[in-house]
Amino acid sequence: MSSIDEIKSRIDILDLAAEAGVKLRRTGRNHTGFCPFHSNTRTPAFVIWPESGTWRCFGECNEGGDIFKFVMKKEGIDFKEALQRLADKAGVTLERLQSEKPEQKEENLRLRNLLEDVATFYRHQLLQTEAGKPALTYLLEKRNLTEQTIEAFGLGYAPHSWDATLKHFTAKGFSEQDLLDVGLLSERDSGGYYDKFRNRIMIPIRDENGKMTGFGGRILDPDDIPKFMNSPQTALFDKGRLLYGLDRARKPIRAADQAVIVEGYLDVIAVHQAGYENVVSPMGTALTDDQLRMLKRFTRKIVLALDPDVAGQKAVLRGLDAAREAMDREEEIGFDARGLLRHEARLQADLRVATMPDDLDPDEIVAREPAEWARLIAAAKPIVEHVLDVLVSEQDVNDPKVKAEIAARIVPLIEDLPNPVERDSYRQMLARRLKVDERTLTGIKLAGGTARRAPRQRAEQAEVQESTQAPKASSVSPFRKMEAACLGHILRRPDLLPRLDRRLQEAGLSALSVTDFEYTDYQAILSLIQRSLEQDESDTTAFVHFRLVDELGETHSELLALPAPKGTDDRLLDEMTRQVLQMRRTVMSESVNQLRFLTEETQASELNQTAQQYARVLHAIDQARKRLSEYRRE
Ligand SMILES: [Zn+2]
Repeated sequence: MSSIDEIKSRIDILDLAAEAGVKLRRTGRNHTGFCPFHSNTRTPAFVIWPESGTWRCFGECNEGGDIFKFVMKKEGIDFKEALQRLADKAGVTLERLQSEKPEQKEENLRLRNLLEDVATFYRHQLLQTEAGKPALTYLLEKRNLTEQTIEAFGLGYAPHSWDATLKHFTAKGFSEQDLLDVGLLSERDSGGYYDKFRNRIMIPIRDENGKMTGFGGRILDPDDIPKFMNSPQTALFDKGRLLYGLDRARKPIRAADQAVIVEGYLDVIAVHQAGYENVVSPMGTALTDDQLRMLKRFTRKIVLALDPDVAGQKAVLRGLDAAREAMDREEEIGFDARGLLRHEARLQADLRVATMPDDLDPDEIVAREPAEWARLIAAAKPIVEHVLDVLVSEQDVNDPKVKAEIAARIVPLIEDLPNPVERDSYRQMLARRLKVDERTLTGIKLAGGTARRAPRQRAEQAEVQESTQAPKASSVSPFRKMEAACLGHILRRPDLLPRLDRRLQEAGLSALSVTDFEYTDYQAILSLIQRSLEQDESDTTAFVHFRLVDELGETHSELLALPAPKGTDDRLLDEMTRQVLQMRRTVMSESVNQLRFLTEETQASELNQTAQQYARVLHAIDQARKRLSEYRRE
C-alpha cells in the first residue's frame, strides 16, 4: 500500500468534513449536508460517499474529489501541501517529499548512468579479461550459474587494484566526487581516494524499476574481509528501501501471489535460475517495514526462507530474549519473532518461515533438486508455529520444567497477537504440543512476564493498539482500483491518449479530463501526462518522471506494475474507452440517484437542472457503451 493509500485509509472523509463544520445526515449509504465551499443554506447539495472516500457538491461548485481535494479547496493549498498536512494528521511519514527538486533528479539520473557504465566495466572485466577468469570460474563451477544467468543479472568483477576503477572513470571525464557520490571510492587517511571494491565479484543492485542504485561485492580470496560488502548509503543506495532482485521478481511475485525472501544475492540468482523467480533478498540487514511494504504491493503472502543458523534454536532463543537493537546487526538478517509478528500485524501480511534442511543454503537446495525448493516453500509455517517447533524440537516435553520454560517463552508471543481467534488457536496448539491443559496456559503471562520485561511489554502493547487502527486490507475501494487500471494503461501508452480523446469526442462525449478521476494523486499524474504530450523538449516518460512530486513516485510505480494488457493498439483503445465510460457511468449514475433523492427530499428546483444535465450525459455514455460492445461483437 502506498503512503497515499495509507493516509486515505487512516483519515475518514466524514471526520474531515465534520471538523470543517459540515453537518451531515445519513441518507442510505451516503451522507448529505450543506456545501462548505459555497454559501447556500437552502439546498443541501453536498454528498459524501464514505466507501470510496469521495465527496461532491452538486450545487454551485459542481465538483468533487477525495480527502486531499477537500483540504486543498478548504485551505486554498496545493496538492503537495495537502499531502503533507494529511500525512502529519495520519501519522504517516513522507520521507521522500524533501528531496524532490528537478535538479536533484537530473543529477540522480546522471549518477545512475555512471553506475550503468561501471556495471558494464565490471562485466567486461569478468567476461573478457584474464584477471576475471578465477571469478568467472567460481561463478560457473562453484555456484553452478550458467552464462545466460551471469549475463541476465549483469554480474561482473572488480579488478585487484587500488585504482583501476578510479583511473578508468576519471579518464572518461567523471570526477572523484562523482565516484564518491555513487559509493565506489574510499578515502585514504592521508588524503586522496582508492577503489572501494577490489578483487570482488560485483553484483549490480537495481531498484524495483530496474534502475541502478549500487553494488554488492563478494570476496574471491577467502582471507579478505568482509565476505560481502555493499555500496555505502548514498543518494541512490538506500538499503532499507531496496530488495535485491525485485525488478525481475515483481511480476512473478504477483503471478504466484507469493514472495520468498532469501538471505543472499547469489541465492536469489541461483533460485531464479532454477525457475523460481518470485524470490528477493534484503541488503544483508534485518527486514524493514519499508521493504515489506514494498512487497505488500504485489502480494500479502511472504515466506522467509532462512538458513538453519538463522531460523534455528539458538537464533530463535536469542530473538526472543535479546533487545531488538542487538538483532539489527549488519550482515545478518536475524530472526526476531516479535519484530516479525509486529510487521505482520501492522501490514496485514501473511508471514511464514521455511527452514532449509541439512545445513544447506537455498542455492545448494536447488542445485540438489529444484523441486525440493517448491516443497520447502509450500511447507512454510506461520511464525508462532515455527518458534514453537524450534523450541519443542530436541527437548523432552515430558519434563515439567521444560514444559514450563517453553510455555513461559511462547505465551507472551501469543498474547501479543492482535487477532483473538489466532490467539485461541495457538493456545490450543501449544497445549496439545506440551500435553497440558489449555487453562494452565492462561496464567503464565503474569508468572512468566518478569519485571525485567515489563517496560518492553508496555511499549509493545502500545504498538499493538496502533496496529488495530492500521489500514484494513480492503480499504482500497473498487472505484479506486478502476481508476488505477485506466490510468495505468494511459501511463504506459501516453501516445494513445489523443486517439482515446478522439474516440470519446466522436461518441459525442467530452475528451478525457482530470475531473474524470476522483482521486487527487491520479489527477496529478494524468495532468502530467497531458502536459508531457504538449511539449517536445523531452520524451514523455522522462517528462512525467522528472516532474512527479516525489511522494507520487510510489503511486506511479504501482500503476506501472499493474498487469499490462496485450493485443493491438485498437484492442487497447477499446479497453481504455470501455474503462473511461465505466468510470464515468459509475459516477454519473450515483450522482443521478443522489440528485433524484435530494430533489424529492428538499423539493429544491435548482437541482432539477443539474439532474437533467447529468441524466443526458448518462444517456450519452450508455449509448457509447452500447456501440462499443456491438462493435466488439462484430
Ligand atoms: Zn459547493
